Amino acid sequence: MKLPVPDFSCHNVTQITPDIVRGSGISLLMLDLDNTIAPYKTTVPAEHVLRWVRDMKEAGIDLHFVSNSKRPDRVEGFAGILDIGYIKAARKPGTKALKKVMADFGRSPEECALVGDQIYTDVWAASRAGCRSFLVHPIRFTNPFLFLRYLAEAPFRALRRSRLK
Ligand SMILES: [Mg+2]
Repeated sequence: MKLPVPDFSCHNVTQITPDIVRGSGISLLMLDLDNTIAPYKTTVPAEHVLRWVRDMKEAGIDLHFVSNSKRPDRVEGFAGILDIGYIKAARKPGTKALKKVMADFGRSPEECALVGDQIYTDVWAASRAGCRSFLVHPIRFTNPFLFLRYLAEAPFRALRRSRLK
């Protein structure tokens, strides 16, 4: 059984640098949206996210949203502003969406990673799909349920293989 253990953990996406990604042999990053790239309630990316996306693209690293969100226009909005492709209602920890993106880009799982804030959806989907995972700290706990879920993830968060400074 593949356990949902993150390969890398960090506080936020800006700690994931093109050098770290390239140095790990990764050329495609699949991105969770909510609480990874932006808080649930915002509709436009922050300045540091715009810079991060630009830097990744300039380094030749492909980006693609894989979001479980079903909210109308939400994923589309970010994808449009950042000029990144997307799959919404992706049903992570199911692996179908990840496999489709990897196939569309012609990449093997070893060349891909998923960036997300949740163990039981993002990290688990990545490990089941055979690719690596970057676990970020959730941007904001907007309700008690999110915090309880975060606590329930603690054992797997603690097992992360490496922590980015
Ligand atoms: Mg999320």
